[in-house]
Amino acid sequence: MSNARRLTVLGVTAALAGSLMAVPAAARTAAPRPGPAVPGSTPAKTPVAVGYGGAVASVDADASAAGIAVLRKGGNAVDAAVATAAALGVTEPYSAGVGGGGYFVYYDARTKTIRTLDGRETAPRTATKDLFLENGKPIPFDDAVTSGLSVGTPGTPATWDSALKKWGSRSLAQVLKPAEQLAAKGFTVDPTFRKQTADNEARFRDFPATAALFLPGGKLPVVGSTLKNPDLARTYQELGRKGVGALYHGAIGRDVVRTVQRPPVRAGSTRKIRPGALTTADLAAYRTLGHAPTHTTYRGLDVYGIAPSSSGGTSVAEALNILEKSDLSHLTEKQFLHRYIEASRIAFADRGRWVGDPAYENVPVKGLTSKRFAASRECLINDGKALTSPLAPGDPRHPTPCGTTGPAAPTTYEGENTTHLTVADKWGNIVSYTLTIEQTGGSGITVPGRGFLLNNELTDFSFAPANPAVHDPNLPGPGKRPRSSISPTIVLRHGTPVLALGSPGGATIITTVLQTLVNHLDRGMPLVDAIAAPRASQRNAAATELEPALWDSPLRKQLEALGHSFKLNPEIGAATGVQRLPDGRWLAAAEKVRRGGGSAMVVHPAP
Ligand code: GLU
Repeated sequence: MSNARRLTVLGVTAALAGSLMAVPAAARTAAPRPGPAVPGSTPAKTPVAVGYGGAVASVDADASAAGIAVLRKGGNAVDAAVATAAALGVTEPYSAGVGGGGYFVYYDARTKTIRTLDGRETAPRTATKDLFLENGKPIPFDDAVTSGLSVGTPGTPATWDSALKKWGSRSLAQVLKPAEQLAAKGFTVDPTFRKQTADNEARFRDFPATAALFLPGGKLPVVGSTLKNPDLARTYQELGRKGVGALYHGAIGRDVVRTVQRPPVRAGSTRKIRPGALTTADLAAYRTLGHAPTHTTYRGLDVYGIAPSSSGGTSVAEALNILEKSDLSHLTEKQFLHRYIEASRIAFADRGRWVGDPAYENVPVKGLTSKRFAASRECLINDGKALTSPLAPGDPRHPTPCGTTGPAAPTTYEGENTTHLTVADKWGNIVSYTLTIEQTGGSGITVPGRGFLLNNELTDFSFAPANPAVHDPNLPGPGKRPRSSISPTIVLRHGTPVLALGSPGGATIITTVLQTLVNHLDRGMPLVDAIAAPRASQRNAAATELEPALWDSPLRKQLEALGHSFKLNPEIGAATGVQRLPDGRWLAAAEKVRRGGGSAMVVHPAP
C-alpha cells in the first residue's frame, strides 16, 4: 500500500495496545513511541528506520505498525510476523491472506539456528498431471487463474499456527487481534489499492461476494475512502477462538470447499468458470513442513534460504556461488550486470530441470548449492559474448566443467504477486516471511461470508512440459505442492545476524533477492539503496527484463553489443529487509517507490 494508506480510526491503535495480552512488567517501558502506537496518529511511512528493540519492514504501514505493537508489548519476532501478516491480509488482500500460502524462515537467536516452515498450498488428492489440460491441450492461463481448478489447500493459517506453537510466545487469538480490529474499523484506500482493484474489476464483477467486498456500491473504491471487511474480522475472531481447526476441520473449511467446488458466479455471467475438486479431506490432510534450510557460504557469510518446494533457496545459492568467482566489487557496471544476468540465466536453467516438490521429485539440493557445481556452470560465462536461452541444464549430481545435460527447455510462465515481510526482535530473533495468493487478486473468488479471496497457486505448476523431451519436475500431482520462486533469505556471520530480506514478484523474486544481496554485499550500497536500485531479471528466457532506469540507460546498448536482448518491465518486485548494524541497532528497509513505497519501522528509533 502506498503512502496514502493510513489507519482511519482512533480505535484501531487503541485496540492494538489494549488487545495485546498480558505484558510482562519489564516490557512495559516508557520508551519513545513511534507514530503507529499513539492512538489517533497516522502510521508514518518511511523506507528506512534505524533503532533498538526490534524492527519490521513490510509493504504497508498498518501492517508494520501491527508488528511493532506486538514487539513493543513484549512479543517476539514470530508473534510480530504473524500479526503483520494477518494485517496484510486486510490491507493487501489481493496479495496475501487466509486463503493462500507461503514460506517462513526463522533465525533463533538462542540456538543460533535457522528453521523454516513450508506453508505452500497443495493440490487436491485427486489431481493428476493433466489438471490443466483439456483434450490434451493446456487451457488458457487466465481461465485457469480465475477458476476453482487452481485453488490449492490454503497453508497460511497452518503456517501461523505452527510458527506460534514452535517459536512464538503469544496465542493465535492474541496476535490476530490487531488485524481483526483493522478489518472491522477499515483502512484508507490508496491509489495502489484502487489500481489493483481496477485491474481486476471485470472478473471481480463476476463473483458477487468479491464485488460486494471490493467494489462497494458497485464501483471502484475511491482513494481516501475507508474500506471495511467485517466478514474477515469475524473469520480472524473465529480462528482465534477455535484455532485453525476451524478451517482445516470446521465450518470455514466447509465454506472454502463449497466455494471451490461451485464457484458462486453472478447470474448471467458469460465467463466459463471451471470448478475445482478440493475436498474437506484435502483440508484435513494439510500439514506445514519443516525442511532444513538451504545453505551456502558467500564471501565468508552464511546464506540461508527456503528449500524445495520453493526453488528460491537453491537458485539464489547457485547464482551466488557462480558470482562468488568474480570480484564484483571491482567490475564496471556493464561487466557486473553481464555476470549477474548470466549467473541468473544459468540458475534458472538448472531450476527448471531439477526443482519440484521433493515429496514427488528427487531434488539434488546439495548438488545445486555446491561450489563444485557452480564452478562447472560458471565456466560457461564469456565476458565478450552473452549466452543464449533457453540454456540447457547442468547435472548437479555429476558436475562436469561447462557440461550440460539433455536438451534445453524454456522457463514456463508464472504469474506475479504477493508480499514479503521481515521482522527482528530485541532478543535477536529474525523472521523472513513471504506469503501469497499467487496472482494479484488470486482466483478472484471470495469465500462468501468469510471476507478472503482464494488463491490460484496451482497455476504455478507447469500445465505441460515446456519441452516434452526434458523431464519437468513441476507437473501437477495428487497432494503436490507447486514449485515456488519465493526466496525469504537470512544471512549470518559466524552464527550472528547480518541481514534478512525477501520480495514478491513471481519468478522475478529470485533475481530481486539475488540482485539486492550483491548490490549490498559487493557493490557497497546501503540496504535501502540496494533495494531501490533499478532491477534486471533474466530467467533463462530470450530477453532479460529491465526496469525503466536501466532500459533508458546507455548500459542497455553496451550489453546489447554483447548479444543480450531486453524487454521493458515497468516494475519488478517489492523487497523488504532488516539489517543488524555493528553497534547492535536494527535497520529496517523497504521500497522507496515501488508499489507506492514500503514501510520500515523500529521499536525505539535511534537514527
Ligand atoms: N506464486 C508465486 C511463487 O510462489 C508467488 C507470487 C508472486 O510473488 O508474485 O513463486
